[in-house]
Amino acid sequence: MSIALRRLQSRASAANEALDQPLSPGERETMICAAAEKVEELLEILRVDHRNDPNTRGTPRRVAKMFVEELMRGRAVAPPELTDFENRLVYQGMIVTGPIEVRSTCAHHLLPIRGEAYIGVLPSAEGKVLGLSKYDRVVDHFASRLQTQEELVRQIGDFLWENTKPHGLAVRISAAHMCRMQRGVRAANGRMVTSAYFGAFSEAPALKDEFLRECALIDNPAR
Ligand SMILES: [Zn+2]
Repeated sequence: MSIALRRLQSRASAANEALDQPLSPGERETMICAAAEKVEELLEILRVDHRNDPNTRGTPRRVAKMFVEELMRGRAVAPPELTDFENRLVYQGMIVTGPIEVRSTCAHHLLPIRGEAYIGVLPSAEGKVLGLSKYDRVVDHFASRLQTQEELVRQIGDFLWENTKPHGLAVRISAAHMCRMQRGVRAANGRMVTSAYFGAFSEAPALKDEFLRECALIDNPAR
């Protein structure tokens, strides 16, 4: 095993936790090569002739690259920088943004999770007010890990709460899990909803209700 690879592997942590340092492009390439060898081995154990089968010939590297550069990228890169706007008008009303596309991977089965996130913010005069696209980036960052939906909603919430210091924060995710649809009970549909509330939202049920009403209006603007 190369020294570079041993160094990479010595820093194992939970599937949805950041590595202790972002990986350089060279380190990601080392990881892709090592993972591709293991995917080859997996296919061989499953008795897939990937060397001669035209359909799976490039699969080991493709799968390895997909895990490192896409599905688990949010562990190996720094979180988005949150540049803010000055809250000049000291806007104190509720901001609700969504639906934000959620594309993640279930840590239990390595199958896709697809859904939408909604974020509600009650800004504070001292805190940061973000451009809307920043919320999309934050969701994407934490979703690009092997996740459980319960922990994903919490990670997004904790990050925004600590870094933007609003008066209140609400995060809600509604998502479908392919591990329920492609295997097991093979449910045709069925979603899971998770939410996390911080500050004023966790103290006042009326604020939660208003947030949930806004989420429903975003989904069905005609109502
Ligand atoms: Zn699963």
